[in-house]
Amino acid sequence: MEFEKLKPPDDGKKIEYVDGKLLVPDNPIIPYIEGDGIGKDVVPAALKVLDTAAEKTGREIVWFRIYAGEDAYKLYGNHLPEDTIKAIKEYRVAIKGPLTTPVGGGYRSLNVTIRQTLDLYACVRPVYYIDGVPSPLKKPENVNLIIFRENTEDVYAGIEWPKGSDEAKKLIDFLSTLGAKIREDSGIGVKPISEFATKRLVRMAIKYAIENKRRNVTLVHKGNIMKYTEGAFRDWGYEVAREEFPNTTVTEDELWEKFEGKQPDGVVVVKDRIADNMFQQLLTRTAEYDVLAMPNLNGDYISDFAAGLVGGLGVAPGSNIGDGMGVFEPVHGSAPKYAKQNKVNPTAEILSGALMFEYLGWNDCSELIKKAVEITIKSKVVTYDIHRHTGGKLVGTREFAEAVVENMHSL
Ligand code: NAP
Repeated sequence: MEFEKLKPPDDGKKIEYVDGKLLVPDNPIIPYIEGDGIGKDVVPAALKVLDTAAEKTGREIVWFRIYAGEDAYKLYGNHLPEDTIKAIKEYRVAIKGPLTTPVGGGYRSLNVTIRQTLDLYACVRPVYYIDGVPSPLKKPENVNLIIFRENTEDVYAGIEWPKGSDEAKKLIDFLSTLGAKIREDSGIGVKPISEFATKRLVRMAIKYAIENKRRNVTLVHKGNIMKYTEGAFRDWGYEVAREEFPNTTVTEDELWEKFEGKQPDGVVVVKDRIADNMFQQLLTRTAEYDVLAMPNLNGDYISDFAAGLVGGLGVAPGSNIGDGMGVFEPVHGSAPKYAKQNKVNPTAEILSGALMFEYLGWNDCSELIKKAVEITIKSKVVTYDIHRHTGGKLVGTREFAEAVVENMHSL
């Protein structure tokens, strides 16, 4: 593989994808992007933790630095160079820090572009309680969710034009011929939601639920208002369950009609909730929700909300998954006001690495990290975001990661 400015490492092996399965060597080459803002703090700290976990389980990661955001602009004159996309395609699994996106104008979100270009169609975010992390809930231990957010469509598809542009005018004229009245001074955005993308997302969520013995999958939509996009998402979701998993799923209605409300073993309940209701359900009936599948924008809002239930963005990991390819990153952004202050919490980036290890099939490695993070937080060695609620020993990003490494050595 030829790169314009990158030199891949001489040692380490490539992860391969054969017959729908990842083949992972013990010394994989893994590209990483530091990212913007606090990415510069959390990524180097997290890589040290990941190295220790790999080493302790007899493996080694050969890191390959690639560029996006401000670093890429300095090096290539482009915020997302072709080299970066090529490297992720070639090596299949990568980890990244957050990237800044200008609001209202400027370049398009680099995160969205990476997800769409590589067809990483599912944004998968586990949200669970870590003992010792402050939470606004009385029973935060009831939060144990996996959010599957569609990553390539919806209003995120980037199909939009500003007020007064030729394109907006043309669309307004055209739409008026279909009977739609739109004010002339409108910006126009388009919300596509397809059967194909919905079904592959919901399929992934149901498969995950079955394989990991989860109890239910909830389709979260706003189909009462947006009938042919969000409503169709719900209908296609149920169709996947009915047609592809007839023996391993039941709907909520069937659960009552056929099983008197008692969930049979080995069967996942598929249900749906309207998105606005979902927010309050997560607060008031937390334990009833398990795997959630939803279109892009609902997933964006609900991910941050759910993260807030168990301690906020500093501890919320995430991943973008396609077929045989994954890019792992925290839910949080680049928080520019805290950049390069060695202040913020690296837990979300560290746990994104743990998720990456699970994706590689290195569950022992992932468990080690999760335990070490929990021990560290329980011992009240914490960054500012947790310290402001719990007190304890206030440490910086680097020192927190060092404490995790130390605790991992004692496991
Ligand atoms: P943000 O960067 O996620 O930060 C919002 C707030 O969340 C921070 O002010 C801080 O809250 C808390 N926070 C975030 N990360 C934390 C950490 N590691 N430890 C502790 N607290 C943390 O959201 P934003 O300010 O809305 O967005 C900033 C930029 O990031 C924007 O350009 C946005 O587009 C981009 N973004 C990128 C990604 C991505 O790369 N995937 C995702 C989201 C946003 P307190 O100030 O209350 O402590």
